[in-house]
Amino acid sequence: MTGVSEGRRCRQERGFCELSEAITRARTIAICAHMSPDGDALGSELSLAAIIRERWPEKRVHCLLAEHKEVPRHLRFLPMIDELVPPREAPEAPDLFIAVDLSVASRLADARATMERAREVFVIDHHPTKRPFGDGAIMRPDVAACGVVILEYALYLDAAVTRDVAMLLFCAIMTDTGRFQYQNANAEAFWAAGKLVAAGADPSVVALNVYQSMRLSYLRLESVVMGRITTLLDGRIAFSWVFWEDFEATGAGEDESEGLVDIVRSVEGAEVALLLRETPEGAIRGNLRSKSEIDVSGLATELGGGGHAAAAGFSLGKVSLEAAKETVLPKLEALVLGG
Ligand code: 5GP
Ligand code: MN
Repeated sequence: MTGVSEGRRCRQERGFCELSEAITRARTIAICAHMSPDGDALGSELSLAAIIRERWPEKRVHCLLAEHKEVPRHLRFLPMIDELVPPREAPEAPDLFIAVDLSVASRLADARATMERAREVFVIDHHPTKRPFGDGAIMRPDVAACGVVILEYALYLDAAVTRDVAMLLFCAIMTDTGRFQYQNANAEAFWAAGKLVAAGADPSVVALNVYQSMRLSYLRLESVVMGRITTLLDGRIAFSWVFWEDFEATGAGEDESEGLVDIVRSVEGAEVALLLRETPEGAIRGNLRSKSEIDVSGLATELGGGGHAAAAGFSLGKVSLEAAKETVLPKLEALVLGG
């Protein structure tokens, strides 16, 4: 199928076979990705729904949002996006619940209750996790995006990779690799991207919507974040922060904050980047990025979050931004000095 090793291919095929068996056993299926969904989360979820419907037209497939929140602006152009419903509009107890792009139950937020009532739970993920929740799982920490696994499942099933599926999966891979720029942009990601473009995905449409359609209010917020960038340890750490009042003052929305950490990571010589953001609830969200060999996932986990070696996140309860800085920065300094 791809250039993967024989052992891994066998393991993956066993996972695909188990997933197909679980789908076959179910009549109602709910698919859900993580809270604060990104391109990989929604692209993987919606494309998997399309693939299951094509292969098993008799199944009732529902696409859930983890939270009762709007879809982020930059992802509203995606095909099938209107299918996403909050958990209360989906079956209370589906036969099968498929979680994509996450493997810790807490990231299902409001949809967690639906997952707990489901007869069977299957997880498809690429985060490094020791033990995912669920009865069955396909765990591929080696792939750039969950979307790569969904494409491989479509090929395994011999299902059609329609133009919509191709767009969804291309968006998944493009966003999780930061436009094919992060350390996870490996040969398999390019292999998948090539297949998807051949199947009708248009990279310029994804780029136009995700990266070149910023509202002016958002750009003003970016300039606030940019203006605050501070470096530590001779520039090895770059960090910045956003107060909730900054959103109010600029008119930018919380759902537009995903790209802010990219501004911070762009500093020359920075090995790690941190963005701290106040939420409307008064909590703090942290985004960590590594441009080097330093693995930021352990620190995110220590702070109650998780993620990948080069991109991880965490939430701190109701603390002030100052207090959050005092908690996180010394730990980040220790990580960089030890790394
Ligand atoms: P972001 O900083 O863009 O929110 O997240 C970066 C990566 O870390 C993503 O792969 C995301 O799924 C993961 N991540 C972010 N926040 C959390 C969290 O609170 N818990 C866990 N387990 N993973 C997270
Ligand atoms: Mn992902």
